[in-house]
This record gives sequence, C-alpha cells and structure tokens, in this order.
Amino acid sequence: MSEASLSVADIADVQAAAWGAAFDYAARHSPFYREHFARAGIAAGDKISLAEIARIPTIDKSVVSGHPEQFLCVPREKIVDIVTTSGSTGQPLVWQLTENDLQRLARNEELSFACAGFTAADTVLLAVAMDRCFIAGMAYYLGLRRLGCAVVRVGPATPAMHLDLIRRVQPTAIVSVPSFLSHLADKAAEAKFDLAAAGIRKAVCIGEAVRENDFSLNRAGLAVEKSWGAKVFSTFGVTELAASLCECAAGLGGHLHPELLFLEALDESGCAVPDGEVGELTATTFGVEAMPLIRYRTGDFAAIHRAPCRCGRPTLRIGPVVGRKNQKLKLKGTTIFPSAMKTVLDAVPDISSYVIIAWRENNLSDAVEVKIACAGDAAKITAALRERFQGEIKVAPQITVAPPAEIEKLQLPDGVRKRRYFVDFRD
Ligand SMILES: [Zn+2]
Repeated sequence: MSEASLSVADIADVQAAAWGAAFDYAARHSPFYREHFARAGIAAGDKISLAEIARIPTIDKSVVSGHPEQFLCVPREKIVDIVTTSGSTGQPLVWQLTENDLQRLARNEELSFACAGFTAADTVLLAVAMDRCFIAGMAYYLGLRRLGCAVVRVGPATPAMHLDLIRRVQPTAIVSVPSFLSHLADKAAEAKFDLAAAGIRKAVCIGEAVRENDFSLNRAGLAVEKSWGAKVFSTFGVTELAASLCECAAGLGGHLHPELLFLEALDESGCAVPDGEVGELTATTFGVEAMPLIRYRTGDFAAIHRAPCRCGRPTLRIGPVVGRKNQKLKLKGTTIFPSAMKTVLDAVPDISSYVIIAWRENNLSDAVEVKIACAGDAAKITAALRERFQGEIKVAPQITVAPPAEIEKLQLPDGVRKRRYFVDFRD
C-alpha cells in the first residue's frame, strides 16, 4: 500500500504491529533491554502496548556509549556493515548493521526519495561522502538504486568536477549539504556557467536547516532555490536510527515512514510536548536486527506535526531541526536555541556580520552576548534589534557593536574551517 493511501487508522495499525514485534525482539535478544525492562518493572513475557510506551524510560547516546556491546542483538557473523555516528557531540558511536538492516535502510530511502517525487527517470548527483564510515551516502545510494534512478556518486569532489559532470551527464537532481550547494553556485557564477539553466530541478538538502519554523525557506534555502533553479527538499536522518525523514513537494516537514520508526517530541522531564511545539526527538526503531533502539533521545530538537499534509499523506511530519541538546541556552528563564537568534539577526539588513557568544553564568542561567557589525546609526540599529529579539523570542541578549575584523576572528579562529555564528564558552 502506498503511504499516500494510508488512513490515520491504518498508520496506527501498522505502528502497533511493528511496535509489538520490536518490543518482543528487544526483550528476547537485547542484553541491555532485558535489564532495562526489568528495572522499569516490566516482567519477562509482559506485553506493553504502544500507548503505554512511556513506561519504558528513555535512553540517550551516553547510555549506548557506556556499553555498546549490550545493544547488539546478533552474533558477529550476521554483521555486514559498520558505520560511525557523525560525532557532533562526544566520541562517535560505532553502529553495526546486518544485511536485513541494510535492506531496511534502502527501503527507508526509497520511500523518502519517492516522497520527494523522485522516479526511475531521474539522474541524481550524489554529492555526499560514501566512505569514512558515514551511513548517509550509502543510504541514499541504496535507496535511489531501489527506486531505479541513475546515480552519479560524485561525493564531496571539487567544484570543477561537479560542474563538468553537470555538463556531461545532465542530472535532474542533486543531494548535498546546502552550504556546499551555495559554494558550487558561486564557483559556477565565476565560471560563467548558468546553473539555473542546467536542468537540475530537485535539490535534497542534508545536514543543515533550509526552512524556518513556519516552513518558509530560510536564507540558505532561498539561496539554493535561486542559484540552482531547483525545488528545495529538506531531509533529516540519524545514523543510529538508520532512517531519515524527507519532505514531499509541499515542503511542510519530513514525512515519517510508519513501519520503520516511531517518533515522540519530549520536554526535559520526559513528557510529550504538544503538537507543533519543539521538543527532543525521541525515536523507537522498527524492524532493526543488529542494534534496535527504544525511546532513544536523539539530542535533536524539532516539532512534530500530526495534521495531514497538503500532499495527502497522513503520516507524521517533523519541522526543521532548531538545534542540538548541547546548544540549548537558558537565557533569563527562557530556553532558546542559537538558531532562533540567528533567524532574528538574518532578518536585519543593516547587520553585515554577527556572532552569538555564550558563557555559563550559573547553574540556572547562561549569559549570551551578540556582537554585530553594522552600517549606519549603531545606537538605532541596536535598539531596533533588541526590540526584535523581545518580540520574536521573548528575551533579548546583550548586544554589542564590534569591528568586522573582531567578529571575523570569532567566526573563524585559527584552525577552524567552517564559519561559526555561535561560540560556546560554557564548558
Ligand atoms: Zn506531504
């Protein structure tokens, strides 16, 4: 059955059945979960319905990294692929997959790309690393192949190689990080290469947000859309879940594939946040053989939307990821992510550059300063910015005007290659 023809009741049935199997499997095969369930007062043989899932305490990356072997449910000879997590926080986890897990991964990506309108007629430039133990490049490749697309595995090659391939292969779509797409567009402009006329009509953007919380394209998303003349699709994936959620053409958040994953958005105390409000994405994997996860806090914060999408799919969608757990700021009693402050700053044309700096003030509060460089009346711009912060995120950080060179130095200190807009001195 295609996902577009599922009803809300069908989805509930699919998830209930998948959960039943996942829970039984973990209870029988996972040394960790056997003990975890027992500690939660769930006896061997007990059945827990999906509605009762909150009886099982959540876990996070630190629990897995403490004893990863306890999560492995199969003997070593069943493992066919080993990847690592991206390591954006702490040491990367080693993640193991069986042949069936790879098939599940491929199925997830097949559904995700189909959701974005990809068909066998597409030729796809895959500008994502296939090696270095990343799961993403391989996952996209497997999914696109199942869909029958022609895949050009260019990876993170030079702009010259990309432009040459675009000329010679005439791809219809590209999968890449938005900042790299912008970099390629700059290089194409320098080479007088008309990218927008090159025929690439779909750009699947990974790793960085391309939308605001209201689903409008943000600055990065607009730049890609304009320079490539392509429709922008956001996709979000987590290595440990071997799953991703990709947008459909309506661009209203990534669609969940109900037979592969169950998702919750939780607050700090572990309670579900209301629909449309940002919480920590917490996932339960379905159909995973080697390292299944139950109520795994991903560290990524986004809102879950349950209203049916304009495309007709009634599956749950996730909004843009607003930040990681370690970026969360406590400012004057309000929890805020630097990305929300960035949205406010990006909307002020008089500000030429900026950097957000955080310190630990005490256990309950952080100190946050925004350094801006601006053209024009600094006092007036600062006052207007303070008002914008108050209006849009309810609190205003300390705002200081600084010379562009000072901001540049904070954004790109020695040895840092990727420009930072947020500098965290809290650790
Ligand atoms: Zn949709």
